[in-house]
This record gives sequence, structure tokens and C-alpha cells, in this order.
Amino acid sequence: MSIHWRAVIRLPFALTVLFLLSACDSTGSATGSSSGSSTQSSSIINVVAAENFYGNIVSQLGGKHVKVTSILSDPNVDPHEYESNVQTAKTVASAQFVIENSGGYDDWMDKLLSASPNSNRILLKGFDTATFRLPGNEHVWYNVDNVATIAQAITNDLKKLDSANASIFDNNLQMFKQSLQPLQQKISEIKSKYSGTPVGLTETIYLYQAQPLGLNVLTPFEFQKAMAQGNDPPADTVVTADNQIKQHQIKVLIYNKQTVTPSTTKLENDARAQNIPVVPVTETMPPGKTYQSWMLDQMNTLEQALQRTK
Ligand SMILES: [Zn+2]
Repeated sequence: MSIHWRAVIRLPFALTVLFLLSACDSTGSATGSSSGSSTQSSSIINVVAAENFYGNIVSQLGGKHVKVTSILSDPNVDPHEYESNVQTAKTVASAQFVIENSGGYDDWMDKLLSASPNSNRILLKGFDTATFRLPGNEHVWYNVDNVATIAQAITNDLKKLDSANASIFDNNLQMFKQSLQPLQQKISEIKSKYSGTPVGLTETIYLYQAQPLGLNVLTPFEFQKAMAQGNDPPADTVVTADNQIKQHQIKVLIYNKQTVTPSTTKLENDARAQNIPVVPVTETMPPGKTYQSWMLDQMNTLEQALQRTK
């Protein structure tokens, strides 16, 4: 029922995007026909994104004028543990525009970039661009306001690389910012109903949404941080996190499916045994989604879980 309703709401937006894309198309082909097809193809910006959510955002902002390759795109692999290979090095070496998160999340990208110096290449760092940053927590893309700021910075760089299409990039940015509004509305809606609700997190990533949602995160930060860093959590934090479940202190467990360890699996099993809803989230965008649909679907799942605890 709710899925159908969302599909109906999305349709006008999808049509608007289609219209906008076709508008970009006609502008692009008009330019191409007057100056030859080789000029048209050479104007496509070669973009490499360290993570697929940044890749998806650049694709939306650049449209037909970018060719985007994303390196981290498997939602079943822990991105904190990623190691690059020769193919990745080649891909990065050919990029005109590189987007990484930085903040310690993807140091492998910095190594690849320094291995293939290119003074014309533009590098954008999501973490450094974000205005809302939490201590010891690099997952800035989970905050929607940060993504709006990063989208603005991406647009500025696209305009530097392809100034002839600046007005198209400006239009795409406006559309992108509008498309974030359902996410902002969902955050306000959940906050108004569930602010102050005690929840558990298996990893730091969801702090970037738990705070705007007004949720009261009880899991010890050192436990979450150890999961992000691939370390063993301090023993006392394991006991605390487990007791919070067994004593029903948390109403929902928000579970990072990409940073699974025996400690998080135990929390998940205990939560299920206690009938505490488990809400899965991922670090990397799953296949077939956009940044917006990924975040909205996760928030809808969280909202449904919170409803069940009322
Ligand atoms: Zn993480």
C-alpha cells in the first residue's frame, strides 16, 4: 500500500527529470551539430568517484555531460577494508574530475592520485566540503544538508571543467536540491513523532541521521567506532550494548549491514530474540537506487519500525 503511494508521488518528479534531461539533450546536440561530433564527445567530463553515492550525485548533476565511474559499489563489502587494484589505478589515472570522501575513509584514493600526478585534474573531498561534521565520524553523506552543500561544490567544479554548459549544470543543481525536499520532509515527520526515542546503532554511520531525527542513541560510542575501524570493541561496551537490548532500553536497533562482526551479529540476534525491530542500513548505495531513493527507503523502514514500538 505505502509502496504504491510512494510510486504515485514519484511519478511527476520522474517526468520532470525526463523533461529536463531531454531539454539538456537538445541543447547538447545543437552544439554538437554546429561544431562536429568530435567536439561533442570530447566535452564529456571523465569523472571517477571513490564511492557510488558520490558517483550517483555527479551523474544527476552532470547529466549527458559526464561519464562517471564509481569504485566502491558493492553493498556487501566493508568499504573501510577496501584495497585498490591495478584496474582501479588505471581508471583513476584517466580521470579529469575525482570525488572522494576523505577524512580517512578512502586513503587508497589519495595513494592512487599521488601515483599519477595531473595538474589539470580537479579533486573534490566530500568530508572537507561538508559543513556538518561529527567527531571521529567520516560518514558525512548521511546528512542531507551536507549533500546539498557537496552538490553545490560539484556543480562549481563541473562549470570550471565545461563552462559552455554552465547553465545546464545550474538547472540540474536546482532540480537536485528540490529532489532532496522529500528527504527533509521525512526527517521532520519522524522527528515530530519519535524525537527522544532510545535506539541502538551498530556503527557510527547513522549518527548523521539519528541527530537530525532527534533519536536518543544509547549504544556506547566506542563500540560503534570500533566497528567502523574494524577493531575489537572494548569489553565493557559490549556488555552495555547487550544489556540495553536484553533490558529493552532501546526500541529499535539500526544495523550497518556492511560492517558486520561477531559483536554486531550477536546484537542483531539478541534484538530479534527480544522482538526489538532491526533496521538495516548500508554504507554504499545498493544497486538500482539513487542517493535520494536509498535514503528515503531506509528512513521509511525506520519509521515503520518506530511505529511498531508505539
Ligand atoms: Zn562506516
